[in-house]
Amino acid sequence: MQSDHNNRVVIVGAGITGLVLGHELLKNGYRVTILEKEAVIGGLIKTFNYNGNGFDIGPHRIYSSDSKVQDYLYQVLGEDLIKIERKSFIYSKGRYFNWPLLFREVFKLSFKEKMLILRDLVFNITRQHKTQIDFAGYIKNNYGETIYKIFFHDLVAKFLSLPASDIHWSWAKSGIEKALIDEKIYSRNLKDLFYMVLKSGNYSMDYFYPRKGIGLLSEKLSELVKKSGGIIKNNTRIKSLERKDGIIKKIILEDESIEPYLLVWTGNLNDLSGLVGLKEEWFIYHPIAVYALFFKNKYLRQRFQWCYYSGSDISFYRLSMPEVFSKDLVNSNTSTIIAECSFDENHSFDNHVAKIINDLKNVSVIEESCQPFYYLRKDIKDAYPVYALDYIDRKDKFFEYMKCFKNLKFAGRGGLFWYNNIDECIINAFQTAKDISS
Ligand SMILES: Cc1cc2nc3c(=O)[nH]c(=O)nc-3n(C[C@H](O)[C@H](O)[C@H](O)COP(=O)(O)OP(=O)(O)OC[C@H]3O[C@@H](n4cnc5c(N)ncnc54)[C@H](O)[C@@H]3O)c2cc1C
Repeated sequence: MQSDHNNRVVIVGAGITGLVLGHELLKNGYRVTILEKEAVIGGLIKTFNYNGNGFDIGPHRIYSSDSKVQDYLYQVLGEDLIKIERKSFIYSKGRYFNWPLLFREVFKLSFKEKMLILRDLVFNITRQHKTQIDFAGYIKNNYGETIYKIFFHDLVAKFLSLPASDIHWSWAKSGIEKALIDEKIYSRNLKDLFYMVLKSGNYSMDYFYPRKGIGLLSEKLSELVKKSGGIIKNNTRIKSLERKDGIIKKIILEDESIEPYLLVWTGNLNDLSGLVGLKEEWFIYHPIAVYALFFKNKYLRQRFQWCYYSGSDISFYRLSMPEVFSKDLVNSNTSTIIAECSFDENHSFDNHVAKIINDLKNVSVIEESCQPFYYLRKDIKDAYPVYALDYIDRKDKFFEYMKCFKNLKFAGRGGLFWYNNIDECIINAFQTAKDISS
């Protein structure tokens, strides 16, 4: 079968970017086909279910002060869009710290740690900032050696399975802004952090969340795309591309070929690299392994949406609790804990779960006698674009080469190799649709 190419835009990737982009282009009169290599659409925003207990892989909550994004979310989700108040922690050396730090958190630090942080603060205010190259340099430069040691050193090595010295400083900046520090709270450096703790203001903050899990957003968007005449093909990879005079003429799939007006790539760039004959793996996409553990009754001793765990002896770098996102996610007699770990092909599943359960007890999340009645594991292949030290140079070279294709565009987290959030993907999809339509 051969489709009519007239104004057909083919989008690779049915994550939030691909779905919003497809929806916008359909509104503007384009024909849209979205190709997704996985069986389940949604990319990084998926909600799975075990016996009526929903859980996101991985945990998501949406923050945006942009009224366009907010209106869009209400339009897509209607009354299923709820607001939740942030509840986040960081765990280090046996202590739970609220994030953002409150004044009372200071008392959890030892006398020695307090003195060292004060020393770092004086040093931080008085010295000229050095050029920062890597992750460790950025944190030490802005927050001091002590904060780096307490909160970041082990966490990063565990999170990315790479030493902090191999990661570009801008990944640290993005990571902190996205994962720990939100835009309302000024925490660019130790001085900001110090004032914030002293003020100890009310840092409560509302996030958006789909009542039945983040996956509801991708499901609703996929319905809208299909209702408007768009096609979504899951379990589909491009076999090859036919090109002529700088134009991608034909996209060859297993069961059909499509003549695109335009191809928009939101997926893994290494896959595209292979299709156009560039041999190299250009970029690092970091995979994670996510374990969902289900417990009878209410055994949880902590209550948070998520908590980061420093410490090389703890097997997970983050835990999350679906019931703190939305009570509609879990059955009344069940508690679910989601543990995110770095991906390791050699991990024996059962041994690793036994270690996670043991660690959950050690960090006082579950009672000593508690055992899950069921557990499962899901892997996320392209969870994080990792900014290696030479990533800017690689990006420049890659996108320079890709300019030889006149009907190829890039968008989203994977397609722009961009450590970003959902709201940024939505804005990027709006802008890409506008660029294509004008
Ligand atoms: C663990 C975790 C927690 C997060 N928490 C938050 C949060 O709380 N708040 C927030 O705002 N953001 C959060 N994010 C970020 C957010 O998930 C992403 O910014 C967003 O989902 C990216 O959407 P995307 O469509 O651009 O990319 P993706 O979701 O990666 O979608 C790309 C799609 O392309 C497909 N694909 C890739 N290559 C190919 C190919 N060759 N052929 C066909 N299909 C292909 C993939 O299977 C995927 O479905 C989190 C991310 C992670 C990993």
